[in-house]
Amino acid sequence: MKVLVINAGSSSLKYQFFESKTGEVLAKGSAERIGLDDSSIIHARNGEDKVTLDLDLPDHKEAMEQVLAMLTSSKYGVIHSMMEIDAVGHRVVHGGEKFSGSALITPSVKAAIRVCIPLAPLHNPPNLTGIEACEAAMPGVPQVAVFDTAFHQTMIPRAYMYALPYELYDEYRIRRYGFHGTSHRYVAERAAEMLGRPLEELKIVTCHLGNGSSIAAVKHGKCIDTSMGLTPLAGICMGTRCGDIDPAIVTFLMEKEGLDMKGINSVLNKKSGVLGVSGVSSDFRDLEDAAEHGNDRARLAMDMFCYQCRKYIGAYAAAMGGIDAVVFTAGIGENNWNIRRDSVAELEYMGIRIDEGKNKGLRGVQMDLSAPGSTASVLLIPTNEELAIARETERIVSSGSATVE
Ligand code: AMP
Repeated sequence: MKVLVINAGSSSLKYQFFESKTGEVLAKGSAERIGLDDSSIIHARNGEDKVTLDLDLPDHKEAMEQVLAMLTSSKYGVIHSMMEIDAVGHRVVHGGEKFSGSALITPSVKAAIRVCIPLAPLHNPPNLTGIEACEAAMPGVPQVAVFDTAFHQTMIPRAYMYALPYELYDEYRIRRYGFHGTSHRYVAERAAEMLGRPLEELKIVTCHLGNGSSIAAVKHGKCIDTSMGLTPLAGICMGTRCGDIDPAIVTFLMEKEGLDMKGINSVLNKKSGVLGVSGVSSDFRDLEDAAEHGNDRARLAMDMFCYQCRKYIGAYAAAMGGIDAVVFTAGIGENNWNIRRDSVAELEYMGIRIDEGKNKGLRGVQMDLSAPGSTASVLLIPTNEELAIARETERIVSSGSATVE
């Protein structure tokens, strides 16, 4: 099945076009600066260099039409006509409590995504815009929503409830949702394949460490806990997000610094994390460079990141009653061996031993990094959220299921 995967942001629309059975990427790219000056489409066919075309993209619908024109053009295309697109899979960030799986998009599914806007005001609106742009540009082609939150819906109340007045949960659905679910699920499934054991028998901690980072406890194939919360601000510290802090800091800072809601949000989401601590960068490559040149705050930021990862791994082993594997994925998890090593340092007592040589080996390649004698495996597994969305889309469309909610 040929599946187009769409990840729509406020001014961008990323796409990957798959032959979902084989996982082959036929073409990929992104429409950039939609609705702004200097908009363009960056497009590449499989194995070929990128081309950038400056195009007027006043809105997502026009961007989608131009993407389809690229995919079907004689010069840059990979199909003769739009009719060859069998389905479209959309990344949707927040599905609230409504979706514990992916859903074939219908008017009621769109309405449910709309209801979740207050929970993800920056993400769900452009996700919906992307869906509507595709509906307009490709009428009749089945569309599927794959939610970042869905995999985490197996958490039970003791894991997802906050100790706030219960009425606030009733009124606003304030609870832990978790994000990066497509990635956590994908790498957990790959981990079971690598270990040659059924997922249903394994206790796995999956560490998705990128610009946004989250950790999940996957017990017997189901997420039982995860570090992000109501929003993707919670958990370990990230590139620019603070992660877990004492909530009293929020009101303290608002008072001392005279910050309004926008101001405090900006501090916590954009000026904190390893950027805030180091004062150098949110990018771990810059931090390593600075630390090597003696920058103590850059070193501190990385130490904090690894220490927090390690605490989550320990906590989730306790929550699952044991651990069979730790998985590292995403930009940092796949590429940064220092961070992997320090995130499992001193966990030998739990049977987690990393092989220093293997850990420093190839970047971004699926690999078992465990040292001899390790009773829990340490695995490097590149994530592939787009392929996971393509396969989910194929599964939903082939099963003919209306919605899986
Ligand atoms: P992501 O959000 O998954 O794209 O991850 C972004 C983070 O991954 C940044 O902090 C980068 O420093 C890190 N990263 C990406 N590629 C590399 C690389 N080749 N070597 C080291 N770090 C990398």
